[in-house]
Amino acid sequence: MSRVPDSQIAIVSTLTTSDNHLTKIRSFLFGIFATNMQRLKHYTIPIFTPEMACPFQCVFCNQQKISGHLQNPDFREVTDTIRKYLSSFKAGEKQVEVGFFGGTFTGISADIQEGYLKTVQPFLDSGEVHGIRLSTRPDYIDDEVLTRLKEYRVSTIELGAQSLDNTVLQAARRGHSVQQVEKAAALIRAAGFDLGLQMMIGLPDDTLEKALATAQKIIDFGASNTRIYPTLVIKGTVLHRWYEQGKYKPLSLEEAVVWSKQLLLKFEKAGLRVIRLGLHPSEGLLDGSEWVAGPFHPSFRELVLTEIWHDLLKPLIDNVGTNGRVGTNGRLRRIEIEVPPSEINYAIGYGGKNRKILLEHFQNVKFIQNTALSGRNFKVKDNV
Ligand code: SF4
Repeated sequence: MSRVPDSQIAIVSTLTTSDNHLTKIRSFLFGIFATNMQRLKHYTIPIFTPEMACPFQCVFCNQQKISGHLQNPDFREVTDTIRKYLSSFKAGEKQVEVGFFGGTFTGISADIQEGYLKTVQPFLDSGEVHGIRLSTRPDYIDDEVLTRLKEYRVSTIELGAQSLDNTVLQAARRGHSVQQVEKAAALIRAAGFDLGLQMMIGLPDDTLEKALATAQKIIDFGASNTRIYPTLVIKGTVLHRWYEQGKYKPLSLEEAVVWSKQLLLKFEKAGLRVIRLGLHPSEGLLDGSEWVAGPFHPSFRELVLTEIWHDLLKPLIDNVGTNGRVGTNGRLRRIEIEVPPSEINYAIGYGGKNRKILLEHFQNVKFIQNTALSGRNFKVKDNV
């Protein structure tokens, strides 16, 4: 099944219908799926369709949890959920997608797939929804499947690649090969769909080199977007057993941040959109009832962006001169750093980390938003 690891699904999949749940998921929706792309707000309405019987046994996945707690939403619920989300969006230009996540969508029976896809058609006709995305396994893609998805105007297909190294896939017991991902990706692209390829880092046998090679293959296979999930040890999984037996050691949080930083920069350079970095902080992860070990942090993306800005700002420290506190004219040095508004939190750093580091070298450090700047460009005024 191509999907975010189950710990994430376990929480968000319960958030499909009720008002109470809708309120909870709004922050998830706006915080995670809403991105500002060229002044167009982009929203994905998530519908979770967990499959009850999965024939695989990926080592990081707790299937019991999936089948024990999750229900597939019925078609009426899906319609209601879409309506509720649409009514909660702010006015203004936006791009709205409905996303079927959490299960091997193309592994469920054809009539149920069609039933789900039919629920979205009236919203596509009315122009309230502009596309459909779904996630599935690479070995559940063929011409017949793609013809059906085309007929129902699916625009994006995400495949859970997890790794594009066969030794890592085997160690994770994924049940598919790199070659199958490559073939499925080619079919998807040839049929005119937008392609997403998800990856995990820190699976058994994984290394930074293999993760970077996986990222390169994701680029080469023609994906336009990706998600990066650090592997966590979740209760009841094979990894949990291996962890307790000392056979598996997860990445530390620091390692996961450093790996992700390199991956994010690589994807950005190639023009891929990294939709998700780190697991959604579900209740089971936050309260530790599901999470045993591994690099979980509720603000994982922010940690990674903090490190990217740390690297950008480091030359300021390296060039500070004298004892670091006194400028060439003998005055205490002050520094102002102008950054794009969307980057200011990351420039300052999670918990003010980058600002604190700079304050060890400068008397005064001020971050200022400059709307004329974009990307991660910044301007520095020294000794102001
Ligand atoms: S075992 Fe693998 S394929 Fe099956 S639900 Fe879990 S992650 Fe998906």
